[in-house]
Amino acid sequence: MTESFVETRAVEAERSWVPTDGVLLEVDQLQVEFRTKEGVAHAINGVSFDLREGETLAILGESGSGKSVTAQAIMGILDTPPGYVTGGEVRYCGTDLLSQDEEIRRSVRGAEIAMVFQDALSALNPVFPVGWQIAEMFRKHRGMNRADSLEQAVRLMERVQIPGARQRVKAFPHQFSGGMRQRIMIAMSIALDPAILIADEPTTALDVTVQAQIMQLLAELQAERKMGLILITHDLGVVADVADRIAVMYAGKIVESAEVFELYAQPQHPYTKGLLESIPRLDQKGQDLAAIGGLPPNLMHIPDGCAFHPRCKYAQDICREEPAPLLRQLGKSRHSACHFAEDLAVAEPTNSELADTTQQGRELR
Ligand code: ADP
Ligand code: MG
Repeated sequence: MTESFVETRAVEAERSWVPTDGVLLEVDQLQVEFRTKEGVAHAINGVSFDLREGETLAILGESGSGKSVTAQAIMGILDTPPGYVTGGEVRYCGTDLLSQDEEIRRSVRGAEIAMVFQDALSALNPVFPVGWQIAEMFRKHRGMNRADSLEQAVRLMERVQIPGARQRVKAFPHQFSGGMRQRIMIAMSIALDPAILIADEPTTALDVTVQAQIMQLLAELQAERKMGLILITHDLGVVADVADRIAVMYAGKIVESAEVFELYAQPQHPYTKGLLESIPRLDQKGQDLAAIGGLPPNLMHIPDGCAFHPRCKYAQDICREEPAPLLRQLGKSRHSACHFAEDLAVAEPTNSELADTTQQGRELR
């Protein structure tokens, strides 16, 4: 690898934000609602999770479960109106960002916590060359001159493996393929050396081979820069290789979180179990996914009791009548919000078959 012109993260003493005991981010009982003409959509209903330095957390859930809204609330880019944070805290290095003024929030956005969006084409400006757009980060935030900032942009484009970066620094977004555009987005997102990178479905618009390459790149950059990485996805297959922990979202709540292998081997929430069973098996090609029956709830009318109960094959009276318990600790790094989490673990033997399938999947890639 060529020696990087881009400075690595400043030594901790020089940074104004310093994590305590390695904890970068604590999302604590976050609540977000959207007030629309049709009614109030309860999009986020008490989401809590932590992110440590150098850790990769995947947030997994079906479309509409509140993944993007969680990311927007952390970044402070929620669409207000109609979206409002109605409770909870988002602590970055111990400071609640939600109660800071916009000037502080702006200084955190991009430089401390950066984001990669699903759709690079609409996130990039079509009328400016890509190199210029990356260089602007250095001009605006680091006060660099034109020549130096462009040189930095070339180095970053090289780092994200854009072939012929030096020649293509003046090309426009539409002159790149979808995968290359996503690489440019990633280059922009890491330009200011953020401590946290949030990637919201970064590969959803790409074909399978390119997906794997982009995931690989994100994993490399994460390790190189010791970033905390939040990978948002509806596709467990995409993140299983790179994530340390997985948090599963349903109807604006995290229903289970665990280390990747634990989660695969023995899900302790019926929803997670259903998601795992819906992953195509390598030995059953051509079969339909064993999708979970039913639909996620309308967020304006979340069912009483546990929000998942209408789709849950284990549901009992208590699930219909009493709210689901808060995410509670079951093992060292494992939490579940099911009344019957313990029983589920006992009743269902270790899902070694599935774990094997995953292992096979890894080896094939
Ligand atoms: P996903 O998990 O697919 O990323 P989102 O976080 O984007 O889901 O959205 C969660 C829910 O929040 C949506 O189902 C919708 O009810 C609500 N929502 C999100 N954005 C808006 C908006 N701009 N206006 C109204 N409701 C919204
Ligand atoms: Mg989304």
